[in-house]
Amino acid sequence: METQKTILYVVVPCYNEEEVLPETSKQLREKYLELKEQISPLSRIVFVNDGSKDKTWEIICKLHEEDPCFSGINLSRNRGHQNALLAGLMTVKKYCDVAISMDADLQDDINAINEMLNKYEKEGCDIVYGVRRKRNKDTFFKRFTAESFYKFMNTMGANTVYNHADYRLMSKRALEGLSEFHEVNLFLRGIVPMIGYKTDAVYYERKERFAGESKYPLKKMLSFAMEGITSLSVKPIRWISFIGLGVFLVSIIMLIWSVVGYFRGLTIPGWASLMVSIWGIGGLVLLALGIVGEYIGKIYLETKGRPRYIVDEFLEEKRDEYNEKET
Ligand code: UDP
Ligand code: MG
Repeated sequence: METQKTILYVVVPCYNEEEVLPETSKQLREKYLELKEQISPLSRIVFVNDGSKDKTWEIICKLHEEDPCFSGINLSRNRGHQNALLAGLMTVKKYCDVAISMDADLQDDINAINEMLNKYEKEGCDIVYGVRRKRNKDTFFKRFTAESFYKFMNTMGANTVYNHADYRLMSKRALEGLSEFHEVNLFLRGIVPMIGYKTDAVYYERKERFAGESKYPLKKMLSFAMEGITSLSVKPIRWISFIGLGVFLVSIIMLIWSVVGYFRGLTIPGWASLMVSIWGIGGLVLLALGIVGEYIGKIYLETKGRPRYIVDEFLEEKRDEYNEKET
């Protein structure tokens, strides 16, 4: 019996990308034809228009008319890269076996798709990350800010795959897993590793943006980092608790020091009591804030309603399948 070919959906979020879309679609189409033997003819290349103000949607519609391998999703307005990506993935999830997400600007090498597919088909990986090998094509500033970004994120408790953007393959069941995360503040790079399953990475060289401008200037990147940290971890709150505890401990030392100074007559009147109250109260306030914060952090994580587990395999289920076949 011939095994069924994989239905592959490539999901590309696009925001004001009229300059790159013709080239991107051309290259993706070539890749599609090249993979013809391997993937099902039901496979699609899906562009998600994230409320672009230029001709992006018109171009997508035209592509779809010319070649049915192209498809498009139009969002009601601009919701940002992460939301556009999620919209695309959740929409295609019921049609595909695997979905690969990538940016429209051709910075990610589309040739990595072959290796990603192989990891899925031959090694049974459910999630394959595309990881940039080097960033020598980016400007020093972009490279520096982006690399600091990953390091900072990790120390703040938002665990992400180093040098991995949103170029990744996800199987149908990984997408199902992703749909169990109900958070509104979405940071895919932090959430996908939480899904679990067998994962692997594919390495590629990062290229320059084909045309147009980056939609992630420093300002957006900073807010992206803030978003990632505050939506994934409550570490900043814990730090406040630690600082509070530290200040409180210092205040005890200060207390001893001022009292000793007071009795030795080395202080002017009023100094000792002021010193002790400033440090003592400051420390206690910070400590109390941290403790209150801990509870708020718990409430915060609860309200996300994240899945507590995702089942990989249930052997009993397999036995049923087997029985069905027998009878
Ligand atoms: N993008 C989007 N909505 C936005 C901003 C960006 O869908 O509000 C898309 C954009 O079209 C591109 C991808 O997200 O396909 C990544 O953006 P960009 O290449 O500008 O980011 P960079 O690679 O510079 O970090
Ligand atoms: Mg880019």
